[in-house]
Order: sequence, then structure tokens, then C-alpha cells
Amino acid sequence: MLGSQDGFYSTCKPLIEDIESKKVVAVFSYLTMLETIHTLRRRKIEKSSFTGGSRSECESKKAPAEVIVRDFVRVIRELSSQQKILIPRPKMTLFDHHSTVVRKIKQYFGYIRTMSYCPICESGYVKRDEKIKCPSCGDEKESLKKYQYKALGHADLEHAFCAKYANVPVFYSTDKSFSDLNGDPDFGSMRFEIIPYPAQVNR
Ligand SMILES: [Zn+2]
Repeated sequence: MLGSQDGFYSTCKPLIEDIESKKVVAVFSYLTMLETIHTLRRRKIEKSSFTGGSRSECESKKAPAEVIVRDFVRVIRELSSQQKILIPRPKMTLFDHHSTVVRKIKQYFGYIRTMSYCPICESGYVKRDEKIKCPSCGDEKESLKKYQYKALGHADLEHAFCAKYANVPVFYSTDKSFSDLNGDPDFGSMRFEIIPYPAQVNR
């Protein structure tokens, strides 16, 4: 599902090939579908070049975003009918699922760290130097510091439980927070594998 222009493509290529050759089956939940549809619309619109900003011009951005969403849904349906991905249908009610996620999120506070950020565009600096050119806006003002809260959010935990309901043996993510769930009795022998960030991916 990753395009070849995606920064993670080369790292994930062996896994994609295993899915393509049916060596492994990827589980694809409707929760992933929900998040991806929203992300595709937002990215397509926010990354398009600015050409005026009038109401009608803003409206004209809708159609190209919907083309991408339709293509995405079509590919997922095709992969599902080819049995290369599995869309699980958990028997649990939505109420029970959410109450399970609430119980779990209360157990994992996560971490408090500090981060440097640009006083102009407020983006976080990748490096921690006091004076560095902002990688986002290019400004060379001294960076400021703030607290950063890193934890598994509700959607992260929902993904983990969706994987558990589908009895997946390995859960892959680029989010390091998931490694906290390794050994959690709620997930049994399910393993959380973290895909490292390639150097060219902007976080
Ligand atoms: Zn900046």
C-alpha cells in the first residue's frame, strides 16, 4: 500500500513482497481505513499549491482528494478479494472494545521529555543544538524548549486491540511507543516490531 516514493518503501519492501506473494497475510482494520481516508484527504489538500484561496477555488480541491480516496478503497477491496489482506470482523461490541481501550490507556501514562522548537514556525528541531537552522522555515533564531508528552494514544491502542482480535502474531509500526506493549498480558504472545525511520523521512 506504500507508494514507491514513500520514505519507508525500501524498508518495508520485503514485507510488501511477502504480502504480494501471499507468504504472509496483512490484517487491515476499518479503523486503519478511517484514519487513512482522513489522512489522504488532508495531505492532498494541504500539500496542493496555493492558487488563490477563494471559496470556489477551495471547493475545487475536493474532487482530486476524493479521486485518491476512491483509488485507495478500490485497491483495498481488490487486495481483500485476492485474500492478500484480511479485514477482520471482531465479535466484540463497540462498547466492550472501547471500555477495554479505556482500561488499557489508564495503565500506560507514557513519557515526559523535553524538546527544542523553532520560535518562528513552532516546528520541533530534529537536533538538540541551541543554535541551528530550522529545518522547516530556515530561521536561525535560538530554539526554545518545551515539554513533550509521548504515549500511546487511543487510536494506537485501538489498532493494537484490533490486531489482537484478529490473532496476528506480529504488529508492525514506526511508532516506538508500541514496544511498551511487548509482554503485556492483554496481548499474549503478539509481538510489536518497530520499523526504524529511514534518514530521508521527515518526522
Ligand atoms: Zn522554523
